[in-house]
Amino acid sequence: LDPTGEGFSPAEHDIEKALRPLSFNDFAGQEKVLENLAIFVQAANLRDEALDHTLFHGPPGLGKTTLAHILANELGAGIKITSGPVLDKPGDLAGLLTNLEPRDVLFIDEIHRLSPVIEEYLYSAMEDFKIDIMIESGPNARSVQIELNPFTLVGATTRSGLLTAPMRARFGISSRLQYYNTELLATIIERSASILRVPIKTQAAIEIASRSRGTPRIANALLRRVRDFAQIKGTGQIDLAIAKYGLKALNVDANGLDEMDNKILTTIIHKFKGGPVGITTLATAVSESAETIEEVYEPFLIQQGFIVRTPRGREVTEAAYRHLGISRPNSQAG
Ligand code: ATP
Repeated sequence: LDPTGEGFSPAEHDIEKALRPLSFNDFAGQEKVLENLAIFVQAANLRDEALDHTLFHGPPGLGKTTLAHILANELGAGIKITSGPVLDKPGDLAGLLTNLEPRDVLFIDEIHRLSPVIEEYLYSAMEDFKIDIMIESGPNARSVQIELNPFTLVGATTRSGLLTAPMRARFGISSRLQYYNTELLATIIERSASILRVPIKTQAAIEIASRSRGTPRIANALLRRVRDFAQIKGTGQIDLAIAKYGLKALNVDANGLDEMDNKILTTIIHKFKGGPVGITTLATAVSESAETIEEVYEPFLIQQGFIVRTPRGREVTEAAYRHLGISRPNSQAG
C-alpha cells in the first residue's frame, strides 16, 4: 500500500486521474476556501482577466493539485505543471512562462523548494508579467526583456513556514486546506466507488473513511485496496465485513495514524514521560525535521486529540495512551 500516491503503477495513476474532481461542484469539503475561490474566479471571468496568484498550503493529499486543475477548468484556461525541485534552470522557467496563453495557470508544487535564482525571476514575472533573460555569454552577454501573457501562478506547499516573505507577499489569494471529517471522506469514497463501478455499503465507506487520516488521497488508496479484497475474497461488493477484513490485512491503524504519527506518540511517552517536550528535541528523537512535524504530522494528531500544545512543549493525552494500549503511569495522571 502506498497511500502517499508515489510509486503507483501507470494503471493506478490513470485511476488517480479518473477520481480527481474537475469542477467546484465535484469537490467535497473546504467550503470556505471554495466559496471564496468561486467568487474570485467569477470576477476574473467577468473582467476577462487572469486570476490573482493563488497559494494553497496544508498537509499532503488534501487536494492542492486537484484545486489547481479545477481553477484552470473554471477559468476556461490551460494549465502547465511543474514543481520547485524540478524547476532549477532559468531557461526552463522562461520556456514555461513564454508558452503560457493569456489567463493560463502555472502550477508549481512544493513551491517552498524553488532555488533563490528561480524565485528572483518569478518575482517580476508575477508582478509585471515580464522576465529579463540573459542571452549569449561573455563579452556579448546582454539581458533581454520578454513580455508575458497575464497568467495565474498557483503555488502549493506543505511547508508554508519555509516560503520566503517576498514570495508569500506576491500571492493575492492564500488558502489553507483542512483535514476532512469522516462524513466528508465517506462521501468522497462513495463517489470514487461509483466511478470505479464497485458497489459499496455506506457503513463500509464510513469505516474506510474513519481510517484515512483525514486525507482524501489515503481514502481513495484504501478504497482501491479494499476493492481488491472484495473482488478476490468476497462477492465484489464492499460491505462492512470485507472492509474490516481488508483494512486489518493492510495493517491500517484503527484511527488511520501512520508510522510516523505513532512513532511521535510512542517517543513522547517512552522517552519524555508523556511530555511536555520541545519540538526540536522531539524532532531529533524521531529523526524528522521540526518543520515537517509541525506542518505535516502534528496538525492531525492535535485535531484528533492525541497531542496538546502547551507553553512548555507537546504533551500526549489520555487518548494517545488508550490508542497505543499503554497504561498511563500514575505520576502522569490528571
Ligand atoms: P500533494 O500536495 O501531496 O500532491 P495534494 O494536496 O495536491 O497533495 P491531490 O493530489 O490534489 O492532493 O489529491 C489527492 C487525491 O485525493 C486526488 O486524486 C483526488 O482525487 C482526491 N481528492 C482530493 N481532494 C478531494 C475532494 N475534496 N473531493 C474528492 N476527491 C478529492
